[in-house]
Amino acid sequence: MKAHTVLRSGIAAFAMLAVVPFSGPAAAQQKFVTIGTGGVTGVYYAVGGAVCRLMNKDRAKTGIRCSVESTGGSVFNANAIKSGELEFGMAQSDIQYNAVHGEAQFKGKADPDLRAVYSVHPEPFTVLARKEAGVTKFEDFKGKRFNVGNPGSGTAASMDELLKAMHWTRADFSMAGELKADEQGTALCDNKIDGFFYGVGHPSAAIQDPTTACGAKLIPLTGPAVDSLLKAHSYYAVATIPGGMYANNPNPTTTYGVLATMITSAKVPDQVVYDLVKATFDNFDEFKKLHPAFAHLDPKHMIKDGLSAPLHPGAIKYYKEKGWM
Ligand code: GLU
Repeated sequence: MKAHTVLRSGIAAFAMLAVVPFSGPAAAQQKFVTIGTGGVTGVYYAVGGAVCRLMNKDRAKTGIRCSVESTGGSVFNANAIKSGELEFGMAQSDIQYNAVHGEAQFKGKADPDLRAVYSVHPEPFTVLARKEAGVTKFEDFKGKRFNVGNPGSGTAASMDELLKAMHWTRADFSMAGELKADEQGTALCDNKIDGFFYGVGHPSAAIQDPTTACGAKLIPLTGPAVDSLLKAHSYYAVATIPGGMYANNPNPTTTYGVLATMITSAKVPDQVVYDLVKATFDNFDEFKKLHPAFAHLDPKHMIKDGLSAPLHPGAIKYYKEKGWM
């Protein structure tokens, strides 16, 4: 009886020993990373979701659990990466430039630790008007109710740059709304606003909904003010939203825009950034299928276009292994 008890506790002790050293290092290795995105009807949220999904497939090997967070957008993400609240985030290429150089909304607050990972899809600045608003060009919004974007979004920051180039201010609208990206489509169809501005990839649910639900119209962004912006800043480029991509908008719309980019901090360990980059590019065909805005992505462009912050060493390691650098 006694021998039995000894034997049993011996097994229990052995089991404890077997479990403890195993779970100890594994628990210590478990890392959590969060990717800051934008509104859930935008494309940043889809990028974050796709990357996390691919990263989490390797969770047992890497010990990293990736989660995606809906946020106010580019400016919020850059600030949250600087403060260490987020490990990764999406940001427009103009916002990445301003954050690393301490310009515009980052004046006096440059982040020397900001690092680029890769760029993703183009984000044409997209202006949508209520069908009955009587608007055919951006200037027609003078004195009307216009949504400029929520605080913390790259959208609102880029809107202000355009207004400055036009010698307008937000006061040129009868009402300058700061609704979030997810709210502006409904507000447009409900006649609460006459139009909105949104820097977003295509196709996006945020544009699909109001064009389908109430026949909202895409409005071009061209002319001298846009030309001066294109000349002054290399992160801007002419962009076209293809005709027929959205209901009730059969013709192509000419505008200008930026690139979406993934950013991080020099403080995030090389191995973590390497694992994120590897998850994206080792599974690139699968990644591209996760959203139609990713269909034309090409790694050769993604590792340099639109990136003004230095590349993170963890990303460089993978790009060199691939022979891309
Ligand atoms: N470019 C937008 C911003 O930073 C977000 C776009 C998106 O969520 O897809 O304001």
